[in-house]
Amino acid sequence: MTLSIRNIIPILKAKFIGKNEVAIIDSISIDSRSLQNSGSTLYFALLGPNHDGHHYVAELLEQGVTNFVVTYIPSNLQGKANFLVVENTLQALQSFAAAYRSDFDFPVIGITGSNGKTIIKEWLNFLLSPDYNIIRSPKSYNSQVGVPLSVLGINEKHNLGIFEAGISTTNEMVNLQRIIKPTVGIFSNIGSAHDEGFHDAGEKIKEKLKLFSSVDVLIMNKNRTIEAFLNPKIKTFTWSSDDGKADVFVIAKESPDKTELKITYKKLCFTITIPFADQASIENALQCLMVLLYFNYDQDIIQQRMLQLYPVEMRLKVKNGSNNTTLIDDSYSSDFQSLKIALDFLESQKQFKKKTLILSDIFQSGLVTEELYSRVSHLIVSNKINRVIAIGKTISGYKSKFPNCLAFESTEKFLAAIETIPFENETILIKGARHFSFEEIVSYLEEKTHETVLEINLNAISHNLNFYKSKLNPETKLMVMVKAFGYGNGGFEIAKLLSHHKVDYLGVAFADEGIALRTAGISLPIMVMNPESTSFSAIIQHQLEPEIYSIKGLTAFLKLAEQKKLKKFPIHIKLDTGMHRLGFEEENVPELISKLKDNNTVEVKSILSHLAASDDMKHIDFTLSQIKLFEKLASAISEELNIKPILHTLNTSGISNFPQAQLDMVRLGIGLYGVSNDEDEQKLLENVGTLKSIISQIRTIQAGESVGYSRRFIADKPTKIATIPIGYADGISRHWGNGVGYVLIKNKKAPIVGSICMDMLMVDVSEIDCKEGAEVILFGENLSVSFMANQLTTIPYEIMTSISQRVKRVFCRE
Ligand SMILES: *Cc1c(COP(=O)(O)O)cnc(C)c1O
Repeated sequence: MTLSIRNIIPILKAKFIGKNEVAIIDSISIDSRSLQNSGSTLYFALLGPNHDGHHYVAELLEQGVTNFVVTYIPSNLQGKANFLVVENTLQALQSFAAAYRSDFDFPVIGITGSNGKTIIKEWLNFLLSPDYNIIRSPKSYNSQVGVPLSVLGINEKHNLGIFEAGISTTNEMVNLQRIIKPTVGIFSNIGSAHDEGFHDAGEKIKEKLKLFSSVDVLIMNKNRTIEAFLNPKIKTFTWSSDDGKADVFVIAKESPDKTELKITYKKLCFTITIPFADQASIENALQCLMVLLYFNYDQDIIQQRMLQLYPVEMRLKVKNGSNNTTLIDDSYSSDFQSLKIALDFLESQKQFKKKTLILSDIFQSGLVTEELYSRVSHLIVSNKINRVIAIGKTISGYKSKFPNCLAFESTEKFLAAIETIPFENETILIKGARHFSFEEIVSYLEEKTHETVLEINLNAISHNLNFYKSKLNPETKLMVMVKAFGYGNGGFEIAKLLSHHKVDYLGVAFADEGIALRTAGISLPIMVMNPESTSFSAIIQHQLEPEIYSIKGLTAFLKLAEQKKLKKFPIHIKLDTGMHRLGFEEENVPELISKLKDNNTVEVKSILSHLAASDDMKHIDFTLSQIKLFEKLASAISEELNIKPILHTLNTSGISNFPQAQLDMVRLGIGLYGVSNDEDEQKLLENVGTLKSIISQIRTIQAGESVGYSRRFIADKPTKIATIPIGYADGISRHWGNGVGYVLIKNKKAPIVGSICMDMLMVDVSEIDCKEGAEVILFGENLSVSFMANQLTTIPYEIMTSISQRVKRVFCRE
C-alpha cells in the first residue's frame, strides 16, 4: 500500500489539521505497542467502551508516528502531527478498507456462520494455495475491527481472497459485507453461539445472510429454514446427506479416525477420505469440497488434497522454555500477515530484552521472493529482533538480509545442530509453515516438566476486566489485585497485560511480589498490602507503595523516610471498619493525624478499608455501616490534613453489590480471573484458567480388585482405569477423590476412584472411548472452579491459589 494523506482525506471524509498533506502512508495501525509503527504509518485512534486510542497518541508521536485519525486532537498536540479528524474512527477505518478493497478485482470467498469459520478458511487456504496467491484473514480476525485490518493486507499480487466475518448482534453485517464484498459465499454451521445478541434464530440468520447480498454463488448445507430467509435471486450451491434435492449428495461412512465421503454430483460419483471422524470436521471439510467443485477441480486432486487436511491450531501459545527462556509457539503458519501479528505479540509478551526469531520459508505472499524477503527483513529490523534462525531452502538464501542470522536448509539440519546453539535468557518466537514441523523445535526448547499445565486465556482476562470496567463510573480508578501470583494464574504476564490496559494500580500482598514485578519491568504503581517493617527499605528502593495500617508501622516508616530524606513518598492508609484484620481503628485516628500533620516525607496517596461481607446480602446492614464509618473517618483525616487522597473500599463482589460505594477507586480481584459469586454475573464472565493433564496409563481391572492406597475403591464389575499424573502436591484436594470429584475426558465425566495420591490420581473411564496420552481437564470452562469449590465446601480462591508452582503455566490468546 502506498497512498498519500491527500488521497485518504476524502475517503474518510476527514478534516485535515496538520502540516504535510502529501505525506505517504504505507501501513495502518490500531496498536500503540507495535514496533512496526513508523513515520509512514497511519494510526487510527479507536474508541471502545473501555479503551481510548487517543490516550496513546502522545507516546506514538515520541516514537516517530506522525499521522493520526482521531475524533479530537489530544491536548497540547495540535500542530505537532498530521491529524485527520473524523466523527467516528472505527467507521473511518471501515470506509477506508471498503474503498481499498474496491481497487481489486479477483474472487473473494466470504465465510460466516456460528462455528467452523476459521477452520474452513485455513483449510481452503491449504487446499487452494498451490494454485493461487491468497490473502486471508489472519488468525480469527473477523470482527468490526479485524475485517478491515485483514482486507487492508491485500496487495497487487494477490489473486484470491478468503475472509471470515463474525457478528454478535444486528446491523453489523452490512459493514462487513461492504468491506469484504465476497463473490463466493460460504454459510458455515449455524449453531447457538452469540444468540444473546439476537431476538430469535430467524433474526440471526437474516443478519448473517446479509454478507451474501451480492455473491455469485452461496455454498451451504441444504437447509429449508435458511432458504426461507434467502433472497431467491441469490444462486445457491448446496450439499446434503439427507435431502436429494441438494446439488451435491453425500453419504458419510465413519471409522474411528477417518471418514469416507461418497460424493454424487451431476453425473460424477466418487469417494474421498478425510482424516477426521467428528461431525464438525466432516461438515467443515464438505464446505471446502464444495469450493473445489465450484472451482472445477479434478476429482483426483480433490481426493489427494482432502486426505491431507490437518487439525488447525489458531492460538499463539506462550510457554516456558529451558534455560530461562520464553517461547512463543506459532508453529503452524507462515505468511507475511501472520508474521506481523506474531511479532506484535512477541513485543507485548516479551519478558527478556533479547529476542530470537526462528522462521521458515514464507508462502503465498504474492510477491517475488526478493521483494518478499526485503520486506521481512525490514519487519525484523523494526521489531528489533536480535537474532534470526532461518530455516528453509529459500529463506536461507537471503541470510545476509537478517541480523545475526544462522541459516539451515531444513528443520532436520537445524535439529542436528541445535545443541551447539545457545538459547538462554531470551524470548523466542517460533514461526513456521506446517510442513516444516516446527513443533519438534518447540518440544526440544520447552522446559521439561510433567504433562500437566494450567492454561491461561489472556483474552478472557481482558474480557473480564472490561466487564467490570463497564460497571464503573468513567472517572472511577481501578486497582487490580495480582497478589499470590495473580490468584495462581501468573504474575508478570498478567501484570503486563494490565499495564497495556492502563489500569491505575496493582495490588500485591507482600513486598517480594512487588519486587518480582518491578524486576520483570512492570512500571505501574504497586500497593503492598502487608509490608513488614523489615521490607521497608526494599519497598522504597523499588518504588513500591506501602499500605500503613498501624501506629507502629507508621512510626517506623516515617523514621526511615526521614533518614532517607524522602519527599512525598506515596503511602496508603488502611482503616479497620469491621473486618478486624488490619487497619487503624477509629480511636487511633487522632494520633495518625498528628503524626502525619506537616510531614513532607510522605504523601497519603489513598485511604482504604476492606469489606467483610460484600458478597452476602444477608449482612447488608453491616456492610452499609462499614461504608458509612469509612466515609466518616476518611473525610476526617482528609480535612484535618487538608489532602484529597483516593478513597477506596470495594472488592469484586462490592463492585457488583454496592456500586454506589465505588468512591474514587475499586480493587478488582477474583472477578478478573473469571469468578463471580453471583450466578447471573458469572454467565457474563469468561473462563480464564484450564487445568489440563493427560492419561499416563490405562488398564482394566476385574470385579473385586481395588485401586490405590488403602484399597478405597473396589470394582464391582470389570472397570477401565486411567492414571493421570496430577495429585495433591499439585494442588488437587484429597477430598476431591473417592468418588466425590471427577475429571473431563472428551468432555465426558470420569469419576475419580480411590484416594488421590501425591502426584497421581486414578479415574474410571469405562464409559469413555479414550487412549493413553488423551487430554484430561481437571477444571475449566465445563467444570468450573466454583462448582468444585461448592462440592468441597471451600471457596474458588482457595482452589485457584492452591495450584502448585510446579504446574507449568501456559498463556494463550486468540
Ligand atoms: C484480595 C483483596 C481484594 C480483592 O478481593 P476479591 O474478592 O478477589 O475481589 C481487595 N482488597 C483487599 C484488601 C484484598 O486483600
